[in-house]
Amino acid sequence: MRKRKMAEFDLIETFFNQQKQNRNDVIIGIGDDCAVTYIPHNQQLAITTDTLVSGVHFPENTSAYDIGYKSLAVNLSDLAAMGATPAWATLALTLPDENTAWLTEFSRGFFALANQYDMQLIGGDTTRGPLTITITAHGFLPKQHALLRSGAKPNDLIYVTNQLGDAGLALLFLQKKISLSPNNQNAALTKLNRPEPQIEMGIQLRDMANAAIDISDGLAADLGHVLEKSHVGATLYVDQIPLSSALRESLPIDDAITLALTAGDDYELCFTISPEKEKLLANTNGTYTKIGVITAATGLNLQFSDGRKYHGNTKGYQHF
Ligand code: ADP
Ligand code: MG
Repeated sequence: MRKRKMAEFDLIETFFNQQKQNRNDVIIGIGDDCAVTYIPHNQQLAITTDTLVSGVHFPENTSAYDIGYKSLAVNLSDLAAMGATPAWATLALTLPDENTAWLTEFSRGFFALANQYDMQLIGGDTTRGPLTITITAHGFLPKQHALLRSGAKPNDLIYVTNQLGDAGLALLFLQKKISLSPNNQNAALTKLNRPEPQIEMGIQLRDMANAAIDISDGLAADLGHVLEKSHVGATLYVDQIPLSSALRESLPIDDAITLALTAGDDYELCFTISPEKEKLLANTNGTYTKIGVITAATGLNLQFSDGRKYHGNTKGYQHF
């Protein structure tokens, strides 16, 4: 093993071993060869990992705060899609240099979100190289209560939380392909850089929904995964997809729908629920919109509410 530089030890202590409140299910956190934890009685562990590479998963000039926040948020979004309650995270950080200003802001963004969900950073790894962030998030699920991609049934109603397409709008703006009013710029960039993982909604849906997925690759692709895993199809009413006012004001409606269907990075939930349980949604405190129905016949049928077929793009937005 190579000789440890003092700076690396200091860096971990200063920037990552800083949580004041520690969870009582963590026996050993940062500082030993492994973290050691307790799993609550009758709970199962949900584990997910996502890597973010600079210039690939976020533009190179993204603020360090936003990178710290978003790296954790995309992992929390996966926990949300399973209905899991967040508990712990590990962080593997590859850095081009020891830029303390950058690390201060990165860890501020990371811990802002971690503390919001009472999550503890329990370990990680720090290496030198092109900026890359890999986070593993752990959460709890009551036994056999995970929300799976495979549970959708014919006649289930298809819902999404909040609004879709804003992250894609922000990316078009950053790529200088469109211009946006200051207000819409702000709204879209916030959605891109500070997505709000739908943790509370995921937990509430755990005993209501039949299937769920988080929308990271665009609604068409992610709903496609649910259909495939559940061996069903769907009819989706593209004019019922919830779009923000920023998106509706900034693009022609056809392009707005294409972004919502294909752009991804929204981190909303798409879930299916039986007609009998649909009324239970009123007991949740989330925002959700019905956009379609699961069919026994396989395939994704995209149409308008009046029955016209949708012939737009579902695989990307190269036409911009
Ligand atoms: P080892 O060489 O045994 O793998 P490391 O020197 O990589 O240990 O890490 C020392 C301790 O610091 C370990 O507990 C590890 O989990 C933690 N750690 C290292 N990097 C990070 C990081 N970026 N965030 C959180 N904890 C970290
Ligand atoms: Mg190590």
